[in-house]
Order: sequence, then C-alpha cells, then structure tokens
Amino acid sequence: MSGYRTHFSVAAGCALVLIIVTHRATPWIAWLSLTNIARIIASILGGLFPDIDIKSKGQQLLYALVIPLLVAALLAKHIVFSILLSALAIIPPLLPHRGITHNFWFTLIAPLSGPFLVNVYCPEYTAYAFDLCVYFIMGAISHLALDYGPREMIMKALQGNKRRSLTRPRKK
Ligand SMILES: [Zn+2]
Repeated sequence: MSGYRTHFSVAAGCALVLIIVTHRATPWIAWLSLTNIARIIASILGGLFPDIDIKSKGQQLLYALVIPLLVAALLAKHIVFSILLSALAIIPPLLPHRGITHNFWFTLIAPLSGPFLVNVYCPEYTAYAFDLCVYFIMGAISHLALDYGPREMIMKALQGNKRRSLTRPRKK
C-alpha cells in the first residue's frame, strides 16, 4: 500500500510526462504556464482523491476545499451547490475503504461531473475544465495502479460487473 507521498509524486510525475509529450513541439520555456501548473495540481488532487474514504491527506484536502465552498454556497443561497457540497462533505467517511472511490469506472466517470457543472454555469470555461478533468482522472488512475498494480486494476475494471452478477443471489 502506497503512502500519500508516493501517490502525490506519481500523480505529479504523470502530469509532467503528459505535459512534456503534448508540448514537445514548443520551446521548454512555454511549458512554464499557469495552465500547466493547474494541470499538475489537478493530477495531484486526482492522485489523492480515492483515499477520501479514510482519514488521509486526500480527505483533509477535500474538507479544506469543500467547507469554505459550502459556506460560500450557503451565504449565496445557492441550493444546488449547497446540496452537492454537503454530500461531498458527509458521504466519504461513510464509505468502506477501497470501495467505490477505488472503482476504476467511478474514478473515470465521476470527475466528469466537474466539467458538466462548469458547462451548465460557465459554459465559456468548459474546455478548460475538461482539460483539468483529464489530468484529475489520470492522477486518480495512477492511484489505483499503485494500490492494486496495473494488471489487477485492469482485471478489476474488466471483470467488476461480471463478478458482481455472479455473486448476486438469484431472484425466485
Ligand atoms: Zn487508495
């Protein structure tokens, strides 16, 4: 089991590699941009995200982000964001460790709610939000690869539904 420092470093490393690969045609000085720093931060947040179901740096970071946003949403009387942020604050500690937050398909699909909400409320930033979401997902998948090993992670992703259907009791 990897510690948060390993998840942090690997997620940041993955983001750096992707930035270098996608920017190889531009001079290296162009790599130093706020967008690329935001991409690295998004990947690190993704790398810490799956462990929000236990007392971890990821969970501490989640509360450090969610609580001020929740207070702001409540003060602004924004009902939708207040409900979403409350759910984000309440649900993670109730989840079993390595449950849904360590499910490959959940880590792939759930972060897309970010760009979706941006598209609804600030459509002009949708492409930027989607770009950051890709880095977040990459960080989250790096976390699963470290926790399970790449091979087992892929096997779990491919066989998840099959195993569930085999273990589900039949209805009479
Ligand atoms: Zn984990």
